[in-house]
Amino acid sequence: MDEGRGPTGLRREGTKQTLREINPRSEQHRRTSGPFFHIIGLISHPDGFAGPFRLPHCDLPCATIDTAMNTDTTLRTAVLHREILAWYAANARELPWREPDAGAWAVMVSEFMLQQTPVKRVLPRYTAWMERWPTPAALAADPPGEAVRAWERLGYPRRALRLHAAATAIVEQHGGRVPTGHAELLALPGVGEYTAAAVASFAHRQRHVVLDTNVRRVFARLVDGNEFPPTATTAAERRTAGGLLPEHPETAATWGVAVMELGALVCTARSPECGRCPVAAHCGWRLAGSPAYTGPPRRGQSYAGTDRQVRGKLLAVLRATRDEVPQQALDAVWPDAVQRARALDGLVADGLVEPVEPGVYRLPGGPRAEP
Ligand code: SF4
Repeated sequence: MDEGRGPTGLRREGTKQTLREINPRSEQHRRTSGPFFHIIGLISHPDGFAGPFRLPHCDLPCATIDTAMNTDTTLRTAVLHREILAWYAANARELPWREPDAGAWAVMVSEFMLQQTPVKRVLPRYTAWMERWPTPAALAADPPGEAVRAWERLGYPRRALRLHAAATAIVEQHGGRVPTGHAELLALPGVGEYTAAAVASFAHRQRHVVLDTNVRRVFARLVDGNEFPPTATTAAERRTAGGLLPEHPETAATWGVAVMELGALVCTARSPECGRCPVAAHCGWRLAGSPAYTGPPRRGQSYAGTDRQVRGKLLAVLRATRDEVPQQALDAVWPDAVQRARALDGLVADGLVEPVEPGVYRLPGGPRAEP
């Protein structure tokens, strides 16, 4: 591609707003004669495809915008970029891990905490965590049980152990600095494809496909016309997300978080607010009449009475004290002895609870060493 041109072939103009006329006899005019290129937007950005353009001899009615959008993937992608990035610029929540000086450790901590957990629940835990452990080295210096204790009731506490393990590896292998490369991030214990891509993209402004639940749902609706994505991430979803990813790394990084935010605030799982969606006019699911989901059953979020609930109750007892805990104290939290024993065995197997001696337990690594 011409260095000076964006993906649509239109000339880049940096970030300034411009009005350019395109030769009406040119191939470029033919390619861009969809009416949404009469005046295409009010913003521009480093990919250069979203500056305002005027085609002086093109008089197609604006009502054909959707037709053009649906028949030209490149143009459609450009307009989706423009609309979603503009929406994000106006609507993004101010979150501490998005501050320009937050740093890669802050992004990594937030990404661990945000897995399957809403921002509202994460914020107080995140703030306390970063005050106590502002660097990977600070966390690695404490025993893993302290991470489990500080995780409190965020849920899925194995994430606390994994974050502690990642911090330890960062200290031992990377001099205490969160690595910048996707492969190095992926090699850290507890860091999977999603987290590696998210940290590389959001913290280091690299170009990666970042596919979380929110992003997958937005693309399923917008592109595939389905209310929900498949139960597990597929190669087809990765191809779709890769095809929509802006070329410029900085723009790609913003695009990733912008789509995620759209899924979190507007295109929600239970009640999408299509009336305030910036891409409602181009959404496959909405244009198809919002058909009901007919795929395999989706996982419920039941908690009451499950082993997860019992594990939570057992951990709460261990978190509440720095002393070792006798079996009787654990027995008191749940009446079903079989389920209780199964939950406790599971916690020990996961490394979240450490047997000190028969019938006595503590959080892993023992109490924090006194200075
Ligand atoms: S129009 Fe509705 S369903 Fe489609 S992307 Fe927007 S919020 Fe989601």
